[in-house]
This record gives sequence, structure tokens and C-alpha cells, in this order.
Amino acid sequence: MPEVAPVPLSQLTTLRTGGEPARLIDASTLDEAVAALRGVWAEGEPWFVLGGGSNLFVGDEPFEGTVVRLRTSGIEELPGSREGTVRLRVQAGHDWDALVAETVARGFAGIEAMSGIPGTVGAAPVQNVGAYGQEIVQTLVEVELIDESTGDVETVSAEELGLGFRTSVLKRHYGSVPERSAVILSVTLELERVGAEERPIASEQLRGALGLEPGHAVSLRWIRDHVLTTRARKGMVLDAEDPDTWSAGSFFQNAIVSEAFARTLPAECPRWPLTPILDPVTVIPLAAFDGILPPPPVVSRQVKVSAAWLIENAGLSRGFRFPRSRAGLSTKHTLALTNRGEATAAEIAELARFVQNRVASEFGLVLQPEPVLVNVEL
Ligand SMILES: Cc1cc2nc3c(=O)[nH]c(=O)nc-3n(C[C@H](O)[C@H](O)[C@H](O)COP(=O)(O)OP(=O)(O)OC[C@H]3O[C@@H](n4cnc5c(N)ncnc54)[C@H](O)[C@@H]3O)c2cc1C
Repeated sequence: MPEVAPVPLSQLTTLRTGGEPARLIDASTLDEAVAALRGVWAEGEPWFVLGGGSNLFVGDEPFEGTVVRLRTSGIEELPGSREGTVRLRVQAGHDWDALVAETVARGFAGIEAMSGIPGTVGAAPVQNVGAYGQEIVQTLVEVELIDESTGDVETVSAEELGLGFRTSVLKRHYGSVPERSAVILSVTLELERVGAEERPIASEQLRGALGLEPGHAVSLRWIRDHVLTTRARKGMVLDAEDPDTWSAGSFFQNAIVSEAFARTLPAECPRWPLTPILDPVTVIPLAAFDGILPPPPVVSRQVKVSAAWLIENAGLSRGFRFPRSRAGLSTKHTLALTNRGEATAAEIAELARFVQNRVASEFGLVLQPEPVLVNVEL
């Protein structure tokens, strides 16, 4: 097995925290990845798979187990399911943004608004990555994965992965185990062949972010360039020189609450209904109508509310940090907790708990972390 000398995970994660694992395996081919995982599972030791380390918050103590780092790469072009489409099968360790750049250069549409998201292709379905109205669920056809329970490599359709808002059956949410323990080995996407043609953007969210009027036509290259500039302004493109990007991206998820709870929040708090707001219709056959209308059925609707708004309106502004702490909110974006240089996981966790407590005491809800936590608690 391609075992390498372990290094502290602070060197392999973008939030720059984490102690040393007992073992580190670098898998550069699919066969190496499969052999490494089967070996680790046979020994029954703690393990996790590492991509680009951009959605992980790792504790300071040594990790008493094996980290398998996926370093596979490669893009295979396959026929699309219909005229004007193409399929790409991409190895899990391939850099996500390098894939986006390649699709834009080849004139394939579908993931250009997700330019600049760090990490690997294999990790992208794990939390159904998304930005500016595009999510991988819109183009994902299937993945090839290896399942811990059987050790078998299988092809699994996108529908079976339970992709939702920053979630899938494979994601380890804080305080729970994933519904399915498996590692993605390759990802197949279906994209549209549009070439260098300028086209209007259908997504209102993307038009809004890029300041475009409906009907304004732009190319894939234009979208990628402008998304990268917009993200960089918010510290959302990795930059070794800029501590505002030494983060795990958004540390807290937008909260999903009931519509009734959302009504208790100030009207200015941005919110987006998750289910269509339709008045349910009850049909009463004329023969059965006795002149009395039944009460309307109670429909529980969910609403997504802005975590950034809640944080800012709980009194925490950009750049907030405790005296002497090396952890702070990004100076560009309150949702990103950042490492201002050599911060320990304990310092990041202290800040995260403070943000959660402020929001909970002002608004009565506990924000949930978006990154996967390893060896650390909030
Ligand atoms: C500056 C910045 C901006 C970001 N912006 C966005 C954004 O706009 N939208 C967004 O959705 N996310 C964003 N993120 C979060 C992150 O980039 C994505 O979640 C990304 O997909 C993580 O990829 P990774 O390879 O770094 O995963 P890692 O951090 O290495 O791993 C994350 C989790 O996935 C698991 N995992 C990794 N690879 C696999 C695999 N092949 N199979 C199964 N499990 C696997 C790991 O074990 C871990 O539990 C941002 C992060 C940063 C630092």
C-alpha cells in the first residue's frame, strides 16, 4: 500500500487545524484506493477519506487511525443520453475547479457557476456542492463507489444518493453517522454542448449575483471569470496569501426551520421556502357534502433562513475575534470562520460555540456546522 510518512492534518486541510494521523495512505490509482480501503476495513481501525480537506474541521489531538487520501485523476468523455449532451466520467481525486475549467474550455455547460469551489470531484456529491443556483444534483448521473459493508465496487445512480441541500446519504453530519458508509471512486456528469456561444442565463440567482438583466447573453467563459471575481471578493477562492480564505468555506449552514418558526424571526431576515407554497385543495364529492366545510389540512412547510443574517444581527460583525485568539470571522463574510495563522482547533471551536450561543440567545435556533467534524466537538 502506498503508505507515506504522516503529517499533521493542519497541513492538509484548508482550515489548517488537525493533529497527525497514525497512518496516511496516498492512493493515486483506483486500484490503490480500493486495496487501501479494503485493507483498512479488514483491520477495523478508525478511518476517513481525505480529498482536498476543504470541508473538514479536525481536532488538535492525533487521529488514532488511517487517513486515505484520494489522489486519482482523469476525465473520460462518453456519449450523452441525447443529442447535444456529453457525459464525463471523472476520477474522485481530480481537482473540482480544474474540472470546471476544462468543461468551460470545451464548451460544456452545467457546472460553470460552481467555479472556484475548492476540493475534489469525489467529495462534491457528498454534500451536493452548490453555488449561485447550480448544484451537482442537476448534472450528476451516477457514481462508482466502494461500500464499507460489502467491500464491493458498485455503480449507484444519483437518485439513490439522497442529494439535498448540502447533504446526501454519504455525508457525516455533526452528531450522527452517515446513512451509507461508502467512498466515491468516480463521478459521471451529463453536460450540455454549447461551445463558446453567448446565451441568456435562466437562473435568477446567478443573474442576480452577476448583476445581469434577464435576456442578457453571456458565454461560459464570461460566467466562470465573473463567478471567480465575485467569490474572490468574499474570500471564497483559496489564496495562500489571504487568511480570509483559510477556512472551510461557510462554517454554518443556512438553517432549515418550520414556516411557523420562521414567522417568529424579524421580517428582514432573508428566507426561501423549500416546498412550493400551494393551498392544498380538498375535493368533496357533491353526494357527500353535508353543508359543512372541514377545517383545512395542516401542511408543515419548511423554510431556509440566512445564517449570515442571523450572525450579523446577533451582534457579530465581519472580522470579529476574541482578544489574543488566532481564530476570527472572515473580514469579508461572517459565515466563514477563519484561521488567522497557527490557530488551534480549540480556538476555532471556541469561536464557533460563541457564534452558536449568540444566535441561539437572540433568535432561539442553533446553527449547525456545514463541515465534517473529526476528533473535535462544539
Ligand atoms: C474557501 C472555500 C469556499 C467554499 N465554497 C463552497 C461553495 O460555494 N459551495 C459548497 O458546496 N461548498 C463550498 N466549500 C466547501 C468544500 O469546498 C466542498 O464541500 C468540497 O466539495 C469539499 O471537497 P474536499 O475534497 O476538500 O473534501 P474533504 O474536505 O477532503 O472531505 C469532506 C468530507 O467528504 C468526505 N469525502 C471526501 N472525498 C470523498 C469521497 N471520494 N467519497 C466519499 N466521501 C468523501 C470526507 O471523508 C469528509 O467527510 C468551500 C470551502 C472553502 C474552503
